[in-house]
Amino acid sequence: MDSTMQSPPLLISQILKFGSRIHADQEVVTCTEDGTRRMTYAEVGKRSAQLAHALRGLGIEGDKRVATFMWNNAEHLIAYFAVPSMGAVLHALNIRLFPQQLVYITAHAGNEVVIVDNTLAAPFSQLLPRLTTLRHVIVNGPVEDSVREALAAPDHIESVHDFYELIDGQPETYDWPTDLDENSATSMCYTSGTTGNPKGVAYSHRSNYLHSTAVAMCLGVGQGDRLLTVVPLFHANAWGFPYLCFMAGASIIMPDRFLQAGPLARLLTEEKVTSGGGVPTIWNDLVRYLDEHKPDVSSVRRLMVGGAACPPALMKAFQERHDIEVVHGWGMTEMSPVGTLAVPPVEAEFGSEEYWRYRAAQGRLLPGVEARLIGPEGDEQPWDGASVGELEVRGPWITASYYSNGEEPQTELDEMASKFDDGWLRTGDVGALTEDGYLILTDRSKDVIKSGGEWISSVDLENAIMGHPAVLEASVIGVPDEKWGERPLATVVVAEGQSVTADELRDFLDGKLAKWQLPERWSFIDEVPKTSVGKFDKKLLRSRYAGGELEVTQLD
Ligand code: AMP
Repeated sequence: MDSTMQSPPLLISQILKFGSRIHADQEVVTCTEDGTRRMTYAEVGKRSAQLAHALRGLGIEGDKRVATFMWNNAEHLIAYFAVPSMGAVLHALNIRLFPQQLVYITAHAGNEVVIVDNTLAAPFSQLLPRLTTLRHVIVNGPVEDSVREALAAPDHIESVHDFYELIDGQPETYDWPTDLDENSATSMCYTSGTTGNPKGVAYSHRSNYLHSTAVAMCLGVGQGDRLLTVVPLFHANAWGFPYLCFMAGASIIMPDRFLQAGPLARLLTEEKVTSGGGVPTIWNDLVRYLDEHKPDVSSVRRLMVGGAACPPALMKAFQERHDIEVVHGWGMTEMSPVGTLAVPPVEAEFGSEEYWRYRAAQGRLLPGVEARLIGPEGDEQPWDGASVGELEVRGPWITASYYSNGEEPQTELDEMASKFDDGWLRTGDVGALTEDGYLILTDRSKDVIKSGGEWISSVDLENAIMGHPAVLEASVIGVPDEKWGERPLATVVVAEGQSVTADELRDFLDGKLAKWQLPERWSFIDEVPKTSVGKFDKKLLRSRYAGGELEVTQLD
């Protein structure tokens, strides 16, 4: 029997129309050097229409690509809505990628127009001569004449505009197309992979719609919430925050380029933030700031942390000292990105050991995300919380392939295809699943340490070391060992004003992990190097070790 239900396509323009009308008074707040600036959702709706008209005037039609090179701010949010709603494709460039990666992804995606923040315009202008698919540049905010001239200089650039000069005066409504295929592309993100070329994922209207609904529901975002969106709009689809805020009627607080703990804490207090999202390194800095300066953060209920494993010590610090619940989430660019969220089951008594076990896990599968664990022999592993395998996933917001522009060499196409297994995405993450669907990741398959035929989880070691009060950060890598094949090397950053020795740290770990897993090699460093999206860069640490750049203390 056919259903009797209506089936309008699920489109970004519906989210825009809904949020800008039904939640017209909610606002996007952008941090500035000396305060904040604000725009209501009603105004975002009008500005999105104006931007769409302007882009059409620049020749953007069909599924042409519009890139952004921006921080998290109101104008970036407007682009997030305007471009997909008109049927075109938004490509938020990761401003922290290496120049040659930016050159590669801009050409690969075929970007034609770019919107650039004024504060990024000077470095961007140096890159522009190599971004040869671009024809028009729109600059958000004032720039010096010399920068403007540099932006206009390359032969392939036809025009340079100021964002508001371009859109002011355009009609404030747009006849958003309603006959778009909900499976057509809205936006692209490239993975920040440290090997080979970045790989492109193209999200759809449908995938974004369903993903945002599920994340809002499982994270408990509702009307009147105020979400501090630290996760960049150029990374992993900003965890769906822009769209879910419009859906839920929650205001969105954007830090722009002010990502240090001080300005973030000020936003929490002054904007009465209730929730937010970012990678562990950001929250790690923030909690130390809160400990020291004790601003009023009583409005904050929950912060979502993901992108890398969150040390339980960090969660406990927020919970016990500031009454803020840190919700652990796991996902990938390829998954829109959220796959799990660590909200404990209702039965787990608050603060109990069981409760913290659930909180420290990567989280419970979101409805719609199917998972399976594949063991080393290719056999499926049971969901018993202990059997470990590579996680494979599938579902309506998980990519089925990487974007190909038809010009990749066969070797690249083969590599892209190797990430999929009979309709499942191979995540490259290793871990276990409990019977009731909690994911416990032990490692990336390439980071796990293989010592004497046994696996040591670098993440377990890091979490344990970061539980020591004198440790700011710790990253553990596997290094070659004559006897065992590989052994862990712990690189440690000591917190300011503290001191600790390798011996003391090893004693601290005693009893927390099996004896044979404890590192003999320790290296004290100033800072753990980070990738373009703020994760520990273990590839760089490994190469520094191989190049003899790390000073290593060897214990017996
Ligand atoms: P990206 O696509 O840059 O977001 O990277 C995705 C990868 O980040 C995943 O495959 C994991 O290896 C890692 N990751 C994301 N969230 C977590 C988490 N909560 N715990 C551990 N690793 C994570």
